[in-house]
Amino acid sequence: MDMEIEKKAKLVLLEAMEYGASDVHFIPRERGSIIRFRVDGRLLDVEKIPYATIKKLIAHLKFISGMDIGERRRPQNQGLEMTLHQQLVFMRISTFPSSTFETLVLRLFPQKQSKSLKQLSLFPSQITELHRLIEKPHGLIIVCGPTGAGKTTTLYSLLQKRTENINENIITLEDPVEQRQPHFLQMEINEKAGVTYAAGLRSLLRHDPDLIMLGEVRDTETAHMAIRTALTGHLVLTTLHSSSAKGALKRLNDLGVSNSDLKDVVQGVVAQKLVEVLCPFCGADCQLHCRKRRTRRRAAIYELLVKDDLQECLDHIDNLSNLTFPKKTLDDWTNKAIALGYISKNEWNRYNKGGY
Ligand SMILES: [Zn+2]
Repeated sequence: MDMEIEKKAKLVLLEAMEYGASDVHFIPRERGSIIRFRVDGRLLDVEKIPYATIKKLIAHLKFISGMDIGERRRPQNQGLEMTLHQQLVFMRISTFPSSTFETLVLRLFPQKQSKSLKQLSLFPSQITELHRLIEKPHGLIIVCGPTGAGKTTTLYSLLQKRTENINENIITLEDPVEQRQPHFLQMEINEKAGVTYAAGLRSLLRHDPDLIMLGEVRDTETAHMAIRTALTGHLVLTTLHSSSAKGALKRLNDLGVSNSDLKDVVQGVVAQKLVEVLCPFCGADCQLHCRKRRTRRRAAIYELLVKDDLQECLDHIDNLSNLTFPKKTLDDWTNKAIALGYISKNEWNRYNKGGY
């Protein structure tokens, strides 16, 4: 193996860590191949390198992650672990055979400590309600939002909060496991090996859990199992793809969960999105070098459907679109954040992607 290429690959990854990048893109082009980082949800070009070098870098990363180097026409996916900055980093590497060149994207999952909800939330008043939710003895808590809205991070922080006070058996089912958590038992979905959400949940239930985190509910079988589990005295936390709290209830209903089951188990629905907090140094258009200095670059805004608002929605589930609950929606909170000068007006146009 080429020592220079090995060193170069490590340097790129170290730099990505320093910037807090969530993904690294290797894009070969005959003239001016580029390496891009996704930082705070935005793709930024960080380096132009020769075509021959990027090809070697891609081959090297495929090799160390155990991919078939000779295979360039089929997409490949592999996990990889590496120590960077004295920290164990888990990565997902995927290759994509585009019509001209094979590109490679590497997603970084640094094993950072879970942030507390206080560190995540833009509005401290929302934390109290979230804390109240995680103290429930049983039922179903749903966190929804688009991909990259930080749903998993919120779930980890909620579980972390719960472990501060009580000793409990917390088991998670995730696809993939994004952060290793010493206090939870974490199982990874592996559909090829038959570990689906439904199969995983069945074996998890034989392992005497108190709290269960299901990475996602995306089919009828998992939805029904999640409800049944919550009905039998467990607290179940999960995520759903839906942009509003009301929409999540509708989605479960569409997946065949009856109105009465929903009324029995749902304790709260949280819709969330990530916003970019205005830079204290340069204002709205923060530069790459500046992002490195800042510790808090993004924060979460939550829409909470709990208590009376939740009851109203559950009582009128067939007529949800006509209800104006929760009283404060994600849009209301976003407007408030803009009015207070926490975030820029451009947040309305920005596409949410990437982690915290
Ligand atoms: Zn800045």
